[in-house]
Amino acid sequence: MIDLRSDTVTKPTPGMLDAMMRAPVGDDVIDIDPTVVDLQDKTADLLGKEAAIFMPSGTMTNQIALRVHCVPGEEFICETECHIYNYEQGAFAQLSGLVARTVPGVQGVFDLDQIREWIRTENDHTVRTRLVCLENTHNRGAGKVFPIEKSRAICDWAHAAGLNTHLDGARLFNAQVATGKSLRELSEPFDSVSVCFSKGLGAPVGSCLAGSEEFVAKARRCRKLFGGGMRQAGIIAAGALYALDHQIQRLAEDHQHAKLLAHALLGSKHFQLLGTDVETNIVIFKVDPSVGTASDIVQKLRVEGILAMAFSKQSIRMVTHLDVGRSEIERVCDTLAKLGG
Ligand SMILES: *Cc1c(COP(=O)(O)O)cnc(C)c1O
Repeated sequence: MIDLRSDTVTKPTPGMLDAMMRAPVGDDVIDIDPTVVDLQDKTADLLGKEAAIFMPSGTMTNQIALRVHCVPGEEFICETECHIYNYEQGAFAQLSGLVARTVPGVQGVFDLDQIREWIRTENDHTVRTRLVCLENTHNRGAGKVFPIEKSRAICDWAHAAGLNTHLDGARLFNAQVATGKSLRELSEPFDSVSVCFSKGLGAPVGSCLAGSEEFVAKARRCRKLFGGGMRQAGIIAAGALYALDHQIQRLAEDHQHAKLLAHALLGSKHFQLLGTDVETNIVIFKVDPSVGTASDIVQKLRVEGILAMAFSKQSIRMVTHLDVGRSEIERVCDTLAKLGG
């Protein structure tokens, strides 16, 4: 099977497994695990933040960021299609008593002008606006990079108004490789940044949340509250460290593969690419109802040995990653041409 459902399906490579087997470990809840400390230090350094903390998932890093930035009865601004709002069970409401105010973007990207008037004035009737969250790259936006000038403008405005800023950078490494800008530059406008090692980087588990020393100390306390304290976590942290050392630059290959898929779709009669091009590793396309629903097409792809994800009633997502090679992508392109007319 050619599995393009997600870049989370990657299996650890032999080199990564070897690094995991040899990792020195401790108890990261009682005091420290040396490999986790290495990963946290390295991630903080790459992102240009004072500190970072390792957690089991990107959902947890995002939700703990919200929890630390805000108190119950406060509001954060985020894009309508973002992961925090759509794919985390509204945990910000369930776990932290927060309200989300959503701003519609184009493939996840919005402008400062859309939210300039959105800070609520102090009033007994209203929640307090506290935080702005952005997503880079944008998952439902087909892997679109949030342009750095726009991030900067939004974050500068937010800080001047006394708001905090958080970046859901689950796929920030893809943005780095696609733009050639450093992780540091892409992270600089934000008070906190979350990154995933379990996506395109190919590690089996884990995310880091980075920010100031003070922010990360609060996040560590909150991680225990949310059940995310892990003991000999060095075993999985070693997989993430290996990924940082060996599997960032190769994301360029995934981006080329996604462009090939996009090219096949641009020539199709019944499938319509979301956007005019693909910047990173996520391809989303609409299925014309005349050839069925997204689920119908996903089923037909499966028969051809290809796994994709129905993303809505009429749209399908494919994500390229390190376990799918060039010849397999070419087979997918041929199949798309066959099914899409
Ligand atoms: C995958 C993802 C996350 C975190 O997901 P987990 O499965 O909890 O690790 C957060 N944000 C975005 C944009 C994602 O794609």
